[in-house]
Amino acid sequence: MPFNVLEGLDSPFLFPDSRSMKISSLFDYGFQPCPYIAATKPLTLDLVNQYIESLTDLAGKKHLPIDGIVMIFDSLDYSKKCGRTGHHYKDGLAFKFEDETYETTLRNIEWTPTRFEEIAPVGIFDPVEIDGCSVSRATLHNLTFIKELELVPGCRISVSKRNMIIPHIEENLERGHYVDAVPPVCPCCGSQTRIYQRKGNDGRLIETVHCDNPNCDSQIRKRFTHFVGKKAMNIEGLSETTLEKFLTLGYLQTFPDIYHLNEHQEEILQLEGFGKKSFERLWNSITSSRNTTFVRFLVSMDIPMVGRTKSKILDTVFHGSLQGFFDAASGNYDFTQLDDFGDTLNQNIHDWFSDENNLILWHELQKELIFEERKEMNTMMKENVFTGCTIVATGKLAHFTRDEINSKIIELGAKAGSSVTKKTDYLICGEKAGSKLAKAQSLGIKILSEDEFLEMIA
Ligand SMILES: [Zn+2]
Repeated sequence: MPFNVLEGLDSPFLFPDSRSMKISSLFDYGFQPCPYIAATKPLTLDLVNQYIESLTDLAGKKHLPIDGIVMIFDSLDYSKKCGRTGHHYKDGLAFKFEDETYETTLRNIEWTPTRFEEIAPVGIFDPVEIDGCSVSRATLHNLTFIKELELVPGCRISVSKRNMIIPHIEENLERGHYVDAVPPVCPCCGSQTRIYQRKGNDGRLIETVHCDNPNCDSQIRKRFTHFVGKKAMNIEGLSETTLEKFLTLGYLQTFPDIYHLNEHQEEILQLEGFGKKSFERLWNSITSSRNTTFVRFLVSMDIPMVGRTKSKILDTVFHGSLQGFFDAASGNYDFTQLDDFGDTLNQNIHDWFSDENNLILWHELQKELIFEERKEMNTMMKENVFTGCTIVATGKLAHFTRDEINSKIIELGAKAGSSVTKKTDYLICGEKAGSKLAKAQSLGIKILSEDEFLEMIA
């Protein structure tokens, strides 16, 4: 159900500068846009309350799930001028309803290993019906969450569906009976567990439970499951159960082994549930996954916090060059200069590439794959004076944003450095350059103006 038109439909003759007219025109194209009220007079508190009430009523009558209401400017021009943060436009206000809560009894806390060594807690409670669905499980996130709510099996709790979707334990109605909930050993491999502290988004310390055993079956199975998943290498026919079988039988140890499963064809055909046809289908799917992309490859590597969205950004920044990304990740490239890449993510990438096993995997797996060529690739790796150099850019540039100049540098087969060191070959210097310029001068590093740089790559 559309509630906004992001792009298109913008003929100035058909639609003047009005969001509501644009949205209402969607009816002509067969859409049922999200109900709205176009305010015709200045909003007062009374009026806002009145609108909220009538939209809530309407949603009830039409059986539309609703968790709040958005107030937004009608003038698209004005909206645009309000600017945006990394995630959100600043042209509107959201009014969120409190989620309805339901009482029930917590029965158990289940601990399930994930693929990042963390053992994640899930609360199991007596089923309650919320919005027509029976709900009996909710993630408990981490140890801190359990401790703060003092959750123990048997206590009365209130649960809701956050945003009407995700079951959530809101409150413990019988506090004061907390006993340590940490499982002493990993439920999968029996190794001793360890409590790990990390900083949450709001800066608070969060405790999580970990299994440190890198050979924990469950972790390995989950990593393989992720690897063959739709967003990663997209191999059909390797369910978690099948993977478990192949892992137990020793057909699979590392990801590249998947591409040699045919060496075990005879044995696999003897397995229950495997016929000639199903093996053929599996092998076809494995073979076609060899043709892959930068994004799929990177997602399949499973660097913590690097999912599809981040991989796509990296694909653009590094122009689909795995080598370019590899150089940056194993060098001192500062990923926080990219939109929405924070310190933790930057650290995760560099950590991942300092692990020898990961490096072996990174190179071995590429040997099995064929990468779709990107158009820019041809112009990219042409030899030029900058190939192999380390280049740092500083100051305000006229033709590039920071991301753009760094991609350009990488495109030239050079490394984009974030700070000036003895290893820096060139400093590209824009307006109002500061300490980096001074440092480069003191180290005798070659300094280029933006125009000089442009001339050299022309
Ligand atoms: Zn384990």
